[in-house]
Amino acid sequence: MPRRKLRIRGTTLREPSLSRRLALITGANRGIGLAIARALAREGCNLIITGRDERALAKARIELEKLGISVLAQSCDVRSPDSVDYLFALVRGLHKPLDILINNAGIGHPNRTVSELPYPTWIEVIDTNLNGLFLMTQAALAVMKHGSTIVNNLSIAAERVFPGSAPYNASKHGALGFTNTLREELRPKGIRVIALMPGATDTEIWHTLWPKAPRRKMMSAETVARTVVDALRLPESATIEKIVVMPSSGTL
Ligand code: NDP
Repeated sequence: MPRRKLRIRGTTLREPSLSRRLALITGANRGIGLAIARALAREGCNLIITGRDERALAKARIELEKLGISVLAQSCDVRSPDSVDYLFALVRGLHKPLDILINNAGIGHPNRTVSELPYPTWIEVIDTNLNGLFLMTQAALAVMKHGSTIVNNLSIAAERVFPGSAPYNASKHGALGFTNTLREELRPKGIRVIALMPGATDTEIWHTLWPKAPRRKMMSAETVARTVVDALRLPESATIEKIVVMPSSGTL
């Protein structure tokens, strides 16, 4: 892997380059996923981007290709085993190991107390944010090797709770348990697992979570993406296990 040297206070660190590495990002047609895709593309990473909205995905692909990298854009519903299988048949067809998996796809839901919550909402959120994380990760592990990294985009809702958000809180708490287990299982294989736990970030998810939320107090998706690239750039011998990045204005 190409490396560049970084001198900090007289010490030389060997920083791995992300150039020509292969990264798969779920939910990369907008929001935080697209911001991570842009940030990785600027590092020279080749990308596989997914999401369900094919038009948005095609638009993202055209934009990212202008940065001089190769992009495979494939619609994929993370809730569907068949859809995930089809995606990974294409990934295997590239005949390259997957260096980075960013499990980012996720949904919110309107604020409802448990007593008011429709069961289909519960099912949809758990299916996307938790079951989808499992399906994608299990399929990806077959094409990941020593030195690769998995980043799971959770939320501060993986550790804190917000009233009226039981499905979201439960899905993200479960996803943190999954992520922590995965990290220990993959440690001997040299695959790093990072829990990304952002606070409020200005994306479309707030249209469903809290339409009148004060967007100007939130972080940008680009800020969150920057923390991911910084963590991925660490030497293989080190890892940031949990990235907690918050708006400096505090929790909303
Ligand atoms: P967006 O709504 O902007 O993006 C969500 C992405 O997930 C879209 O690309 C969407 O594409 C994709 N997605 C949703 N459902 C599925 C599905 N079933 N299969 C495949 N892709 C799917 O929101 P964000 O960018 O904010 O959210 C990204 C992640 O960040 C989520 O996991 C969210 O929980 C997490 N997060 C967000 C925070 C915030 O404040 N914004 C804070 C902390 C965490 P499509 O609809 O086309 O499928």
